[in-house]
Amino acid sequence: MWKSVGNGVLEGASKVGDIDPSKLTITTSETLKPIPPPETLTFGATKTDHMLVIAFDPENGWNAPEIKPYGPFSLDPCSSVFHYATSMFEGMKAYLGPDGEPLLFRPEMNMSRMEKSAERVALPPFNSQALLTLIKKLVVLEKRWIPTEPGYSLYLRPTMIGTRPSLGVTASDHALLYVICTPAGPFFKGPSTDLSLSAVNEHVRAWPGGHGGHKLAVNYGPGFGPLREANSQGYNQVLWLLGDKITEAGAMNFFAVVKRDDGDLDLITPPLDGTILPGVTRQSILDLANAHTEGKSHLPDVPSTQKLYTHEQDLTMTYLRLWHDEGKLLETFCVGTAVIVGSVTRIGQDGKDLIIGSSQAGCPWTDAFRKRLTDIQLGKFKHEGWAVPCAEA
Ligand SMILES: *Cc1c(COP(=O)(O)O)cnc(C)c1O
Repeated sequence: MWKSVGNGVLEGASKVGDIDPSKLTITTSETLKPIPPPETLTFGATKTDHMLVIAFDPENGWNAPEIKPYGPFSLDPCSSVFHYATSMFEGMKAYLGPDGEPLLFRPEMNMSRMEKSAERVALPPFNSQALLTLIKKLVVLEKRWIPTEPGYSLYLRPTMIGTRPSLGVTASDHALLYVICTPAGPFFKGPSTDLSLSAVNEHVRAWPGGHGGHKLAVNYGPGFGPLREANSQGYNQVLWLLGDKITEAGAMNFFAVVKRDDGDLDLITPPLDGTILPGVTRQSILDLANAHTEGKSHLPDVPSTQKLYTHEQDLTMTYLRLWHDEGKLLETFCVGTAVIVGSVTRIGQDGKDLIIGSSQAGCPWTDAFRKRLTDIQLGKFKHEGWAVPCAEA
């Protein structure tokens, strides 16, 4: 039996194979799909022509990777994923750089998170560098699908499911790793990008010692009931609380900009205590804020002398309300690969709404982070190692 020895390495790799990009076979689609006009795209609905598929079985380990026409799988009804939710995923985006070549944003962070998710549900370990090489090849093949309009990109969904064809309540020793691509526009459609959140603590998304810090499928389905309720009350998303403590909003990390008594600002987001998904965007926002405050790289259209001190610390509704009433709560926003940076202007709890930000002041920090991040993603603003070209793969 294969066994992980960490870092995606399989013990006894001579017996079972790891992912080997040199064994890739590519079968291209005979008829390519027409590309729909970008304004008609809804998130995740349009699929590109091809997908990457790699199967794992206990005898051979990882089989030869295949890029082939997008299409359905045939799976045994007993498959582990259908009964025990052995399923995990990633979300990444590809953009076209100024030279017309595809770029990925900090993809190694998605790869290492994916390895950890696999480990949490005992799905087989894999060489994530090899997977990244294959993802780049897929993106290069699907390049014509990458939209160039501002706010648009090609969303990638690496996924792994347990396919052990037996009802035994145990780890899946068969798996399917696949990557699909879907062209995507701005995540929240409508006249405004402002988000409203309904703060909820009668249902919890994640708890201490739980698995909310991993991108496991099982973390999302149970959120859809509360989301539907929040939508019916006129809110875009759920703000997940643990008691009074703010954790995340929907599947996005949450930030607050708070004015200090000395005139500088605090940027606060909950710490990675196991209840928070370690977002690539979250880390990037912290990095950009630190670079600004240390004078290394100033954010656009905000005072270069104003310092924004980052804190990964507990954030409660009680404090949010207090800061709001004292006029210190300047901005709140949510971040994630899909939304990038979404401004939060209304948070409801127990029938009362907290209105954040003023229409005159706008939300300069939220806007600055969104602009800088998208410029880096599009290769317009150079940031060492963050926009990774696919072409040489
Ligand atoms: C994916 C996700 C995020 C955002 O992570 P990114 O790496 O920035 O896309 C935040 N919270 C949850 C619960 C998520 O699933």
